[in-house]
Amino acid sequence: CGIVAYLGHREACPIILKGLRRLEYRGYDSAGVALLNGSLSVYKKKGKVAELENFLATKDTHAKVGMGHTRWATHGEPNDVNAHPHYSTSERIAIIHNGIIENYAALKTHLEKQGHVFHSDTDTEVFVNLIEEIQQQNDCTLEEAVRLALHEVIGAYAIVVLSKDAPDQLIAARKGSPLVIGIGEGEFFVASDATPIIEYTNEVVYVNDYELAVIRDGQLAIRSREDVVQTPYIQRLELEL
Ligand code: GLU
Repeated sequence: CGIVAYLGHREACPIILKGLRRLEYRGYDSAGVALLNGSLSVYKKKGKVAELENFLATKDTHAKVGMGHTRWATHGEPNDVNAHPHYSTSERIAIIHNGIIENYAALKTHLEKQGHVFHSDTDTEVFVNLIEEIQQQNDCTLEEAVRLALHEVIGAYAIVVLSKDAPDQLIAARKGSPLVIGIGEGEFFVASDATPIIEYTNEVVYVNDYELAVIRDGQLAIRSREDVVQTPYIQRLELEL
C-alpha cells in the first residue's frame, strides 16, 4: 500500500517513519521497516505506525539506508509475519512490495523445490526468494537478479529491494503501481507517492512501468527490463507543503 525508502547522509529511520505517517491516509493494516547498516534488520508489526515506533524505541535503528512499508493485505491475513518487509531465505535480501503477484503459487512451488523456506502467506515473500534464487543461479549482481526476476513475475508491483551484500544501494522497480524518486543534495527518497518526499526536495523522477531504478554512489540510474539505459526525466513539483 505505502512505500518510503531513503539513502543519504541522514538517519534513515526517522525519515521513513515520518513518511509512513504521511501515507497513513491511504489505509493499511500493518507497518514495518528494514535498515541497512552493515547488517540488514527488519522490524514489523500489525497495527498502526505508532505501534511500530513504540516497538522500535528499544532497538538500534542507526542507518543511512532503509525502507518502510504500510501493508494493505491481499494475500495472507494481517499479522506481524505477513507484514512487510520480507526477507529472502538467507536473510541477506529484503523487499517491500505494493501490488499483487498473480503467479506466486507456481513460483513458490518451484522455489520450495530449490530449498527456499517461506514464513509468511504473502505473494511478496515469493518475489524476494525469486531474486535470491536468480542471483545464486547466475552468480550475478543484485541489480541483474532483480531485473531478471521482473521477467518471471506476473501482476502489479512497486518494489524496493535492499541487500546486505550491496550496502549503500537501493533498487526499485515498478509495473502498474506508482513509484516516485526524490533527488536531494546527496540523498535520495523513494515513495509510492510524492507526499513523503516534498518536504525534502521538489525534484522528482516518476518511474515508468518495466523500469528498474538503482541508487548507488550518489547517482540514480534507470534501466528498462531489457537492460537499456533510460534518461531519467526530472520534474519539479510545485506542491504546497
Ligand atoms: N500483496 C501484498 C501483500 O498482501 C502487498 C499488499 C499491499 O499492496 O500492501 O502482502
